[in-house]
Amino acid sequence: MNKFQLHEKALKEIRKNKYNVAILPLGSTEPHNMHLPYGTDFYIADALARKVCEIASKKGAKVIQLPPMPYAVNTNLLEFPMTISMQPSTLDAVITDITKSLEKHGIYKLVILNGHGGNQMRGFLRELYTKTKVFVTVLNWWDAGIKLEAGIFERPGEHADEKETSMLLDIFPETVNMKNADDGAVRRPKVKSFEEGWCFYVRPWKSYTKNTGYGDPRKSTRQKGQRYISLVSEKIAKMVVELSKAKMAKGFPY
Ligand SMILES: [Zn+2]
Repeated sequence: MNKFQLHEKALKEIRKNKYNVAILPLGSTEPHNMHLPYGTDFYIADALARKVCEIASKKGAKVIQLPPMPYAVNTNLLEFPMTISMQPSTLDAVITDITKSLEKHGIYKLVILNGHGGNQMRGFLRELYTKTKVFVTVLNWWDAGIKLEAGIFERPGEHADEKETSMLLDIFPETVNMKNADDGAVRRPKVKSFEEGWCFYVRPWKSYTKNTGYGDPRKSTRQKGQRYISLVSEKIAKMVVELSKAKMAKGFPY
């Protein structure tokens, strides 16, 4: 089977190919309720990137997947044991260096496939824009899937919920232990207006959740995960094909 992962290829093969889009799966290392592994976010981002590369490449995209990033910004989860967190400025520096490397190799389109909510980089991307010719887009897979989840999942959530759990049941079932899952209920804020979601603030995850879960995972199934992964991968792959085929010029993507 054809592979699209840089870390699984050798120089001989890399020299033969002319890629124009790179996908960077971005995860995190943090607890996910009592039943999912610490690597959940990068396992999901990596699995989606693999599928996206496979679908997009069949449709003519010249795409390569970079190794998944297992570390990211979890400053608000550090009270939980073995959370491994970067400061946002560290992540920005890493992304800058990856982008500069791609630029050196003549790859001017980078897709960051993000699997962790703490990795908000909009301010940083505006800064990076002034420093590189590489066009960078960042997407959260759950945003890509927002209109695709109706009819699949019964209980909406955000962290180690029915969606993430169903996906892990498809991707890496040996790491899921459903009998340990709690109900993923979260506490209500003292400021009731905050429940409407239009004020951003960093949520102290230890006070907010019981065991880090947000959303009841107990209706998760592998079939749900499989269905959702296939719909989301198709959607992201469509964008990657369009991106790969679009001619790069000043003022891109217009
Ligand atoms: Zn997660």
